[in-house]
Amino acid sequence: MIDGCGRTIDHLRLSLTDYCNLACRYCVPEDAPSPSQMIDTEFAFQVVRWLSRDHGIRNLRLTGGEPLLFPGLAPLIERFGTLESLHEISLTTNAQALAQHALALRAAGLSRVNVSLDTLDPQRFSYITRGGRIDRTLAGIEAAVEAGLTPVKINVVAQRGLNHDELPDIAYWGLSRGCVVRFLEVMPIGPLTHVADQHLVPAAEMLERLGRHFELSPIATRPGQPATDYAATAAGLRGVIGIIAPTTKPFCDRCRRLRLTSRGELVPCVHDRSSTCLAGAWDGQRLDVALADHLLADAIAAKPEVGPRNQLITMTALGG
Ligand code: SAM
Repeated sequence: MIDGCGRTIDHLRLSLTDYCNLACRYCVPEDAPSPSQMIDTEFAFQVVRWLSRDHGIRNLRLTGGEPLLFPGLAPLIERFGTLESLHEISLTTNAQALAQHALALRAAGLSRVNVSLDTLDPQRFSYITRGGRIDRTLAGIEAAVEAGLTPVKINVVAQRGLNHDELPDIAYWGLSRGCVVRFLEVMPIGPLTHVADQHLVPAAEMLERLGRHFELSPIATRPGQPATDYAATAAGLRGVIGIIAPTTKPFCDRCRRLRLTSRGELVPCVHDRSSTCLAGAWDGQRLDVALADHLLADAIAAKPEVGPRNQLITMTALGG
């Protein structure tokens, strides 16, 4: 699938549910109603089958909300695993419930996980996530490594005043467990742009802070990877640290993503409010592929060259 700007679209982010058991302050507005939309399993399977078979989607990332709260997750992954055109199935999670699911997910065919972890401090963790338990997330990461859901990538949203002083410590913690550690700039998304403005730590500053503790040399990244990766070494420790700078250095020219929300909407750009509803092509049992092809063409035609930053909904609804 090639869009009007010549970008190959081969990554799908599939939001299984907009429900999350945490409510990170940069992700979920304080007064947001608690959503609970679960995608229809058969719809999700048929859409992924169609997109991978007919339209070149190769990488599937399961997300949400919190995808581990989706009932029947392992059997659905097993079905996705039968789709020969898919090269990789990964999942983004807060890992609160990963320790108990890691082995079953690996056995079902999940390739690897990305885990969100913004701090190593239990009080800060509870504050940032509005009530999350850090011991659960740390245990989830260890279980994922043990289960072979590797490379486990730890995603850290750097936030001034909340964790900006901890970046090297988190890198040490992750690298010493064989994880890739990626630091993200907070993005102005939907109703929470003011949070990003208030807490943004620019990538250049992250690099400078990390560079005081690690020797960092840039390494080549795969097409479609938003991160700039560095081989990192320090005191006998070696690994990969990534920096993702969607706010100060947007990577729209390299964007290969399409999103499908748990409400059945195709979203071609995270920073653009336009979406195309696939519901009309679904009769409850079967995807009308001819109609879906038309709707997909509309969605891809609407993918902007540069995200206009007019998104109205949150990352939990869009699929992060
Ligand atoms: N619940 C899962 C989790 O916590 O990883 C998956 C969904 S979450 C929306 C996916 C990713 O989006 C997380 O890594 C989170 O940190 C990131 N995210 C959400 N809002 C963001 C923002 N405003 N800026 C940067 N990253 C954000």
